[in-house]
Amino acid sequence: MAGIPLNVVTNKEATNTNDQTSDNPTHDPSAITTPNNKAGSYNSDSWIRESDIKLSEETKALIKQASEVYDQNNPTKRTWYGRCIFISWYCALDCTFCFRATDSHNKRHAKDSKRSHGSTLLEALFCKLFNWRIEFLTGGIGMMPDNELIEYARTISKVYGEKIWLNIGTLTTKRIDELLPYIKGVCGSMETLHPELHKEVCPSKPIKPYDEMFTRLREENPEIKRSIAVICGLGDTLDDLTYLYNFIEKHQLHRITLYALKPVKGGAFTQGPSVDFYASWIASIRIRFPKLEIIAGTNLRRCEEVGTLLKAGASAFTKFPATKQFATSKARLLARQTKDNGRNFISNFTELKDKDGKDINFEAEIDKLQIEEHYKEQMKEKLPNYLKVFLNPKDKDKQKDTGGC
Ligand code: SF4
Repeated sequence: MAGIPLNVVTNKEATNTNDQTSDNPTHDPSAITTPNNKAGSYNSDSWIRESDIKLSEETKALIKQASEVYDQNNPTKRTWYGRCIFISWYCALDCTFCFRATDSHNKRHAKDSKRSHGSTLLEALFCKLFNWRIEFLTGGIGMMPDNELIEYARTISKVYGEKIWLNIGTLTTKRIDELLPYIKGVCGSMETLHPELHKEVCPSKPIKPYDEMFTRLREENPEIKRSIAVICGLGDTLDDLTYLYNFIEKHQLHRITLYALKPVKGGAFTQGPSVDFYASWIASIRIRFPKLEIIAGTNLRRCEEVGTLLKAGASAFTKFPATKQFATSKARLLARQTKDNGRNFISNFTELKDKDGKDINFEAEIDKLQIEEHYKEQMKEKLPNYLKVFLNPKDKDKQKDTGGC
């Protein structure tokens, strides 16, 4: 069973004797270790520093074992940056931890608000040119009619030059058939597989329809890869990973994407998991599933944890804001951390060069694309804003890394 979610602001909090924040008045995010199978705590307003990350002896032993398992099963050590492409900000559901479900977000983003097609296509082009992998195309549930979604999937896969993964809730067989020319994998955002906790944090998004969709996919479209996204820090203990293991085994998943909970204003949580706890999740999953693709999510403030997550056996990382952080100290630090871990980092978010090391002429790359002219025009309209940021890297974290490559 799940422990009481450590960071949910509910009346349960009063009875929660596991809360470790009182022992850590400075809220040093990563000094808190997780010796008792607990999520620890991390104040998401603070910056995690590589030098501050402290791991329990238990976690260090787990990571050492996971690292060996990873090495034995991944001789190329190919490691990449995965990019989610969002196509809308709206979601019809009400998961208690999610920024899309907060009142303030819903006031700002109407039901029909979506990203410009041009900017999503540009991101797909950056993925191709910089060797980022499109983690998946995603957006909220109920965000747009089927025909529009199919058009996004069609054009994005064209620009990227490959079929893509999709994560937009449950899909009927008919919808999958329509999307088949453009998708190679389906991801379901399960958040947690713990049945009771899931009901609590995702009241309108039951597990069963996803369970049924993955069963159908296995039977009817075995060529489509299967993946789920899960959040660490909602309340599942390490023992509760059994629910996740069972789901991975039942549906023979190819990949999982993990995120460390990032509390949002107006949401039900106030603390994220410690690096120790998050890394121990990843290590446990790696040991159990030596060949599974494990993608570790991070964010700008947490991103110095990436080296530890790779040591714990993550295949790749995602959710680093690479377009806004292009060529910043954090970007260079992450490139350095992957190399320090002996990984073959195939992605680039530090130099405006293509895979062959040549300077990129973005306008020429857009002209080469096999898409309709009006889409090319939309991409060119958006391009200067991105290039301005790429060419003027600004560090948000004022304590700059000194160990970049
Ligand atoms: S379904 Fe996804 S986007 Fe929608 S509220 Fe839940 S977590 Fe957020």
